[in-house]
Amino acid sequence: MSKVELLGVFGDDLMVVNAARVSFRKESKAMTPQDERLIKYLARNNHITPFFHPQIQFRICMPIFVAREWYRHQIGFARNEVSRRYVDEKPECFVPDVLRRRDSNVKQGSSNEVVADNDKCMDLIQKLQDDSIELYQTLLDHDVCPEQARIILPQSMYTEFIETGSLAAYARLCRLRLDPHAQKEIQVYADMISSILSEKFPVSWKCLLGDNIA
Ligand SMILES: Cc1cc2nc3c(=O)[nH]c(=O)nc-3n(C[C@H](O)[C@H](O)[C@H](O)COP(=O)(O)OP(=O)(O)OC[C@H]3O[C@@H](n4cnc5c(N)ncnc54)[C@H](O)[C@@H]3O)c2cc1C
Repeated sequence: MSKVELLGVFGDDLMVVNAARVSFRKESKAMTPQDERLIKYLARNNHITPFFHPQIQFRICMPIFVAREWYRHQIGFARNEVSRRYVDEKPECFVPDVLRRRDSNVKQGSSNEVVADNDKCMDLIQKLQDDSIELYQTLLDHDVCPEQARIILPQSMYTEFIETGSLAAYARLCRLRLDPHAQKEIQVYADMISSILSEKFPVSWKCLLGDNIA
């Protein structure tokens, strides 16, 4: 159910170059080594506006607890999301591969170690998800409206949205969410976005992400 689907791309590296070159009423017809140096200069010196012009659109499915973090990235994005006021199909829930232990450093979020009772805890999660979905269906069967029945659904439930963002906005999001301090589950989505954008904007993405590139 996890998904990052590319719906459309407006622009390329040349668009960034020509947004910058208009200052001197100049235009490049195809990328040259000089243009690559210009992109590098723009990214390094935080001349960010030329990176606002390319726009990318995705259809994304992610669990609600990840979407809640994702939606904190506001500037440069537009989003429209499925509404559980209107949709009452059977929900699907995210199940992690393994359950990580707490880290001794509270700011780290989690360690890489798997909990000793992994299988038992996974069974408990699965049971709660199954019970929640069953109760949801029972409420609907009792004619409870979907906008209230949804209140018992877990944070692990998947949601789906269409998101359009500028190249600059995605670079800021990916810089923050590819960082090892970010929640592991959100890093996975940032990584999928980063792989797509490094292919579509090879020069810009490398310069904007630097060492953080996926
Ligand atoms: C590892 C990690 C841990 C986090 N932990 C927490 C947490 O515990 N609690 C929590 O609440 N959030 C937390 N956040 C979310 C964080 O505070 C930001 O909301 C999130 O990273 C989005 O940042 P952004 O710069 O992309 O925001 P956007 O809102 O998209 O803003 C983009 C940029 O626009 C500018 N901008 C936006 N709004 C303003 C403004 N009002 N005034 C001036 N400039 C503005 C800033 O330059 C900003 O960087 C965490 C984020 C990360 C990556």
